[in-house]
Amino acid sequence: MSLNGGFANRQAYLATHGCPPNRTVHAGLNHGTRISEVTATDGGRVIEATDGLITAAANVALAMTSADCLLAYAYDPDHQVIALVHAGRRGLAGRMMTALVEAFQRFGTRPEHLLVTIGPSICPQHYAVQPADAVPFAAWPAAGRRVGEYVQLDLRLVARRQLEEAGVGQANIAFDPRCTFEEAELFSYRRDHPTTSQLQVGYLMRRS
Ligand SMILES: [Zn+2]
Repeated sequence: MSLNGGFANRQAYLATHGCPPNRTVHAGLNHGTRISEVTATDGGRVIEATDGLITAAANVALAMTSADCLLAYAYDPDHQVIALVHAGRRGLAGRMMTALVEAFQRFGTRPEHLLVTIGPSICPQHYAVQPADAVPFAAWPAAGRRVGEYVQLDLRLVARRQLEEAGVGQANIAFDPRCTFEEAELFSYRRDHPTTSQLQVGYLMRRS
């Protein structure tokens, strides 16, 4: 599903899931917090250096990859706007979920009406980081648990807190409980340590 040499493969896969190549917009991720607005004219393009795509257009699919990171699928039913964002440790340190809500607010979205579902991601038990890497998350002490010389970091909890602090209702935030490290059918960078790029792709489209 990688953009590096596997684009045709990705397009073929998405086409079988109802996302035609000329109506699918792809994100060229760089672990930042930029969220790009796209329209139907962006179909078939790769938007470089962006970890989020948002659109008010119907029948335009948003697509991006993840390994152990979170993909957040968001929908504003009032304004018929959708977004798909990728956030791992670096994105969440930059408050990517706050950026997600702010991106919707430019369309008039009321945060309490926003619906967010987060796909499979690595669980804290399988995500031990250096203490220095946990420092940006000090605002959410429950998200870090010291185990020996490492900190087990709960990226899901950080995402939830950022969404809630931005006004998204607790009941409107859902998580796929599956851990990418534990589930054999899911790809995990931490588990597999691949020498070539291997990724899973997520996509979101609002049909008219
Ligand atoms: Zn796990």
